[in-house]
Amino acid sequence: MTFSVHGLAVSRGIAIGRAVLVASSRADVAHYFVEADKTDEEIARVRAARNAVFDEITRVQQDLPKDAPHELAALLDVHLMLLQDEQLISGVKHWITERHYNAEWALTTQYEVIARQFDDMEDEYLRERKADLEQVVERILRHMKGMASPVQPVEQAGAGRKASQQDLLLDDTTDVPLVLIAHDISPADMMQFKQSLFAGFATDVGGRTSHTAIVARSMDIPAVVGARSASQLIQQDDWVIIDGDAGVLIVDPSPIILAEYGFKQRQGELERQRLNRLRNTPAITLDGARVELLANIEMPDDTAGAVRAGAVGVGLFRSEFLFMGRSGKLPDEEEQYHAYRQAIEGMQGLPVTIRTVDIGADKPLDRHASKTQETHLNPALGLRAIRWSLADPPMFLTQLRAILRAAVHGPVNLLVPMLAHGTEIRQTMALIDRARALLDNKGIAYGPVKLGAMIEIPAAALTLKLFLRYFDFLSIGTNDLIQYTLAIDRADESVSHLYNPCHPAVLRLIADTIAECNAQGKGVSVCGEMAGDVTMTRLLLGLGLRSFSMHPSQILTVKQQILRADASKLAPWAAEVLASEDPAALLQQH
Ligand code: PEP
Ligand code: MG
Repeated sequence: MTFSVHGLAVSRGIAIGRAVLVASSRADVAHYFVEADKTDEEIARVRAARNAVFDEITRVQQDLPKDAPHELAALLDVHLMLLQDEQLISGVKHWITERHYNAEWALTTQYEVIARQFDDMEDEYLRERKADLEQVVERILRHMKGMASPVQPVEQAGAGRKASQQDLLLDDTTDVPLVLIAHDISPADMMQFKQSLFAGFATDVGGRTSHTAIVARSMDIPAVVGARSASQLIQQDDWVIIDGDAGVLIVDPSPIILAEYGFKQRQGELERQRLNRLRNTPAITLDGARVELLANIEMPDDTAGAVRAGAVGVGLFRSEFLFMGRSGKLPDEEEQYHAYRQAIEGMQGLPVTIRTVDIGADKPLDRHASKTQETHLNPALGLRAIRWSLADPPMFLTQLRAILRAAVHGPVNLLVPMLAHGTEIRQTMALIDRARALLDNKGIAYGPVKLGAMIEIPAAALTLKLFLRYFDFLSIGTNDLIQYTLAIDRADESVSHLYNPCHPAVLRLIADTIAECNAQGKGVSVCGEMAGDVTMTRLLLGLGLRSFSMHPSQILTVKQQILRADASKLAPWAAEVLASEDPAALLQQH
C-alpha cells in the first residue's frame, strides 16, 4: 500500500529505488556490488569470519574458570547459537547471491531484518537478544576487516541508472537503484557514501543545515532529512521515491505515481542539461555588476566538481572532514599539507579558502566522540571550531604550518571559524605568527595567505570594526549565524520550522556585515547554505553582496538568477525587505 512520509527537503531531485536500511552504527561498512561469478568468494569470506568467531567464543567458553558466573556461560551459549542461526546464514547468502552485495553489506542488511523481528517480540527476554545479535555481528565484521575482499567492486552497478517503470516491474533485477534510509548518519559516515552507489538518502533526524544535510547536498543527489519515523515505517527492500524538492518520501508507489515521478525526474535532467550551457558564462548582472561564484568543498578531490561547475575559486574548504572518522587519530602536518596542496593544485591557479578545523557540535571527530559530546549540555555552544583549536595549540600550529606551506602552490585564503572575542582573535594571530616563525627557523618555505574571519556569531556581527582591524576579508556563515541569532539548534528537526533565514534580526546582521565590508573596501562573501538558495539570491545582490560560496551543484542555478537580475534596481527593494516586519512575504511577491 502506498504511503508518504514528510520531512525536510535538503537536496533537490527525484530518486526512485529500493530501500537499504542502515543503522547509524554500521553506516561505515563498505557498500559495493560484486560480480556475479565472485559471489561464492564473498560467501566464503563471511563463513570464514563466522567460523573464526565461533572458535574464539568456544575457546573462551572452554577456558572459563570454574567459579565464573553461570550467566556468562549461558550468554556465550546464546552467542554460539546466534552464529549458527539459519535465518542469519541464509539471509546473508540471499543478499550476496541475489543482490550481489559485498559480504559486509549483506551481513549488516540481514542484521537489520532480524533486528526488526526482535523489536516486534512480546517477550522481553527475547527482545533483549537483539543486543546479543548486534555483538555477534560486530565481531564478525571485525574479523572481516582483517580479511579484505579479494573481489573488486563493480563500478557503480545500477547506481547511475535512473529507475524505469520496467525496473520496477522486474522486481528481482539486481541492478536497480538503491536509496539509503537511516535513523541518523553522522557527517563522517556520510562521507563514506560520497563516492557510493546510492541514488538518494533519507534520515529520521536532522535539520536543513545540519552537516549531514550539507554533505548530502554536496553529493548532489536527492535527500530528505527530519523524516521522523521513516526508518521505522520503511522496510528493507521497499520501493521508495525520494522527492528532494518537496521533502517527501513515497513508499510502495502505485504505477500512476511512478509514472508522474518518472516524468519529473526526466524534466529535472533536461533542466540540468540546459543549465550546463551557462558553465563558462561570467556571472554578471544585467546592469554589469560582476559576481564571484565560489565552491564549498569537503575534500581535496571535490575541486574537480568545482572546476566542472565553473566556480572561480573555493570559498570554503571545510578542513574538518580531513579530521573526522579516524578514531581520534588526527592527520599530521605532512598529510594535511598534501591534502591542501592537492586542493590548491586542483583549482589550477584559482584561489582556495581553507577554513581551519571546525570540529564539535554536530561534527564530532568520530561517532564514539559524539557519545561523549552528548554528555555536554549544549554542544553547539561548547568547545567547537576555533575554541577547540585554541584549546590545543600544538594541534592548531600543525594545521597552520600545513596551510602556510601549501600556500606556496597557489593563492590561499586562511579562514577562521566561530570567532567572537577580541582575545580569540589576538591568540589566533599570535599562533599564525608563531607558525610562520617555526617554519622560518627550520628554513621551510611557505606562501602568503590572506586572513579571513567567519561571521557566524551575532557578537561578531555586532563588532565588525574590531574584526576588520585584523582581517583582510570576512565570510558570513549564515548556517550558524541563524542558529545563534535565533537560538535554534540547526540539527534539530523539532524546531526546524523556526529556523528562519528571513528573520529580520538575521537579515539585519547580514546586511550590516556586507555594508561595513563594502564601505571599508574589504572582501565579504556568504558561504552558508543561504548563498546557494536561489530564493535568496536577489536579496543578497540587493544588499550589495558580490561573492557567493556554495556547493558546486548549486552554482549554475544561482548564476541563472544573477544573469537575469538588475542589481541597481534590487538595492532599494532590499532596503524595503530589510525594514519589513515580514521579509519572507516581500520575497515571495517579488
Ligand atoms: C556556516 O555556519 O554557515 C558555515 C558555512 O559553516 P558550517 O556550516 O560548516 O558550520
Ligand atoms: Mg559554521
